[in-house]
Amino acid sequence: MKQVRAAVIERANDPFVIHDITLEAPRPDEVIVRMVATGICATDAHVRQQLIMAPLPAILGHEGAGVVERVGSTVSHVKPGDHVVLSYHACGQCKPCLSSHAAYCEKVWEANFAGARLDGSTGVRREGPDGLHAHFFGQSSFATYALAHQRNTIKVPSDIPLEILGPLGCGMQTGAGAILKALKVPVGATVAVFGVGAVGLATIMAARIADAMTVIAIDVNAGRLELARELGATHVINAASDKNIAAAIRQIEPRGIEFVLETSGRASNLDAGIAALAPMGHFGFVAFNDRSEAVVDAARLSVGQTLQGIIQGDAVSALMIPELIGLYRRGRFPFDRLITFYDFADINRAFEDVAAGRVIKAVLRFEPPAV
Ligand SMILES: [Zn+2]
Ligand SMILES: [Zn+2]
Repeated sequence: MKQVRAAVIERANDPFVIHDITLEAPRPDEVIVRMVATGICATDAHVRQQLIMAPLPAILGHEGAGVVERVGSTVSHVKPGDHVVLSYHACGQCKPCLSSHAAYCEKVWEANFAGARLDGSTGVRREGPDGLHAHFFGQSSFATYALAHQRNTIKVPSDIPLEILGPLGCGMQTGAGAILKALKVPVGATVAVFGVGAVGLATIMAARIADAMTVIAIDVNAGRLELARELGATHVINAASDKNIAAAIRQIEPRGIEFVLETSGRASNLDAGIAALAPMGHFGFVAFNDRSEAVVDAARLSVGQTLQGIIQGDAVSALMIPELIGLYRRGRFPFDRLITFYDFADINRAFEDVAAGRVIKAVLRFEPPAV
């Protein structure tokens, strides 16, 4: 048993309130991690708004980075004192999991959103009302300590500040993986990215790593488009002033684009992106936004084009996160430029700033423990 402090959402759109919570001792395959920092990702906001109907009350947070405090009896890949990043969770037993595509786990909902372990139990307790959900993405890292599973606890080098590393566990992996793993963009390809928030900017950096020839960033925020240019976009389109995005793209690449990635969740971008596709082009979209209004005319994909939903960049976190750290060391994936830090106590202000577009990637920092 461990006493921790966690930010709890009671009902849709409520503010986070920090509560005293009791964590169970780790089961044999679990790890307790002292949080150093955790990123805020769009999915946390979508659950808070109940656009994603994960059960409440809950402890959210799924870009945790910290130090291993205690491990269960069968955990061997990390030990107390190791630096780790927490990533998405998966069952480890289904066909996608066994074929190195755990992001498409057949239990993706149960493992990440159901608010409990895969067996339905929860390892958190609090005084007062019952039914607190946790284990969000196998971590619930909006807390001073997280109870993670060994499968989503990724060891990282100890010479890089942990406070920047959390976003590698979701947002950065989602964007970079979409280009490097899911779409496998080859050298010399043409790429267009709709939306240059944290995921979209990770995509832009990855497109440069892949040596894409043309990288077009599309957004309504002029400041972010400028940053996209610095991080690797060869062209930018401001959708606030340029209403016909597909035409603007074809001015740059008349035959269309080979790889289009949609990261904004806007249904209208599906139409524009398909209109901009080259023959045999690939349209990828990062999943779990509300796309119920989006309707696709299949005939528009008839020249060999494909439409592909992508979760977590189809990345194996235990491989992808160390790769991204290696690229960061070489100056090729400067994701720390996207980060604005907040104290954990200011979690509500951080969410407001993200929603208002004032920051790209908010990261909450926890106070070091008293010694
Ligand atoms: Zn996320
Ligand atoms: Zn699975």
